[in-house]
Amino acid sequence: MAETADAVIIGAGIHGASLAFHLAQRGLKPVILEKRFVAAGATGRSSGLVRMHYDLEPESALAWASYRYFSRWDEIVGGDCGFHRTGFVQIVAPAAEAALRANVAMHQRLGIPSLLVTSDDIRRLAPAFVTDDFAVAAYEPESGYADPTASAAGLLEAARRKGARLMQDTRVQAIRTQAGRVVGVDTGGVSIDAPIVVNAAGAWAAEVGKLAGVDLPVTTWRHDTAFFIRPPDLGPTHPTVIDFINSMYFRPETGRLTLVGLEDGNPLGLSPEGDSERALSGFVERAIERICRRIPAMERGGLHSAHGGYDGITPDQRAILDQVGPEGFFAVCGFSGTGFKIGPAAGACMAERILDGRATTVDITPFRLSRFSEGKPLTGEHAYESIWR
Ligand SMILES: Cc1cc2nc3c(=O)[nH]c(=O)nc-3n(C[C@H](O)[C@H](O)[C@H](O)COP(=O)(O)OP(=O)(O)OC[C@H]3O[C@@H](n4cnc5c(N)ncnc54)[C@H](O)[C@@H]3O)c2cc1C
Repeated sequence: MAETADAVIIGAGIHGASLAFHLAQRGLKPVILEKRFVAAGATGRSSGLVRMHYDLEPESALAWASYRYFSRWDEIVGGDCGFHRTGFVQIVAPAAEAALRANVAMHQRLGIPSLLVTSDDIRRLAPAFVTDDFAVAAYEPESGYADPTASAAGLLEAARRKGARLMQDTRVQAIRTQAGRVVGVDTGGVSIDAPIVVNAAGAWAAEVGKLAGVDLPVTTWRHDTAFFIRPPDLGPTHPTVIDFINSMYFRPETGRLTLVGLEDGNPLGLSPEGDSERALSGFVERAIERICRRIPAMERGGLHSAHGGYDGITPDQRAILDQVGPEGFFAVCGFSGTGFKIGPAAGACMAERILDGRATTVDITPFRLSRFSEGKPLTGEHAYESIWR
């Protein structure tokens, strides 16, 4: 006999966890089905950057609404999400300076603490950085990074306290529909009847969409990161940085480490079951070369470790937050390598969308699936180049 639930959420990454938290807050008792374990996918590999600087206003709005959670986690969720306020610097090439200025103005309109600073300011903030290849940068003093696994686990724990149920090691194998609406899911062992089924399956979202007869324009994106040991004379920490000039981002990590990721060379379309314990061949060498361009003293650093991860990516590199296909079936996917920091607010918005028909925390209609068939991919008013190349 089938069990019943108010809603089934497929995937226990940051997005499944956040939606479970917000549905449970509204009095529902969702079941979260996870084929491996909490944060087994992109969330567990995420670099955890928490910043609001985007060139697309709805993304900045989601990041800003989420920031409230990261900065007041214990009060809102309970426990610790490992948020470190390091300050965040966005560096762009001189050719993108006008876009940077316009985007900072947009962030300020949203109330985000963001300001334009000069390369001299950055030199004072981070004396080890090379600062002669840009004139101005954006600076967010309140931003930094959080611990994605702790964040997902914390949201799930809070959801469970309100009656949500988490089943790990449980893969959804079929989504049942009847007369154009979802009625439940089947796993190898259990069947669950539910009027709401949510696809929060990350890099597996297209595969899960097919189970409900829905074609989602989501492919896989592989991304490697390396942790380097800073030489002792480099100081105890440094800001979190996205450096478009060197197609790289980096942030400090506890234990005198610096985490580096690259914007180029992230292969699309690979199986998300591929080896993520090791970085792809050649990645570490490229990451060393890039970080030494911005921080030459890192030449005296060392390699700590490197690994990879997979996220789902859409054609415009923005998420899908929508009801799709059969009634009661929702997609929360396609986060395209930048979805951790918007997890809290995306979950709040999707709970509103599911229960009230419309999100009020942030308007998420720009993230509707039909934008692709309408020929209206999301692009910023003052767009930078695609982040991932
Ligand atoms: C290396 C790396 C670094 C990143 N750095 C950042 C960053 O600094 N800042 C940022 O904001 N974002 C970052 N991202 C992106 C961010 O991590 C992701 O967008 C986000 O974690 C996606 O969360 P999710 O819940 O949608 O997916 P996931 O965390 O991938 O969760 C999906 C889950 O679904 C499960 N699943 C799949 N199929 C099934 C099924 N049939 N049945 C049951 N369960 C299933 C999977 O096992 C998985 O646990 C990074 C991503 C990677 C890979």
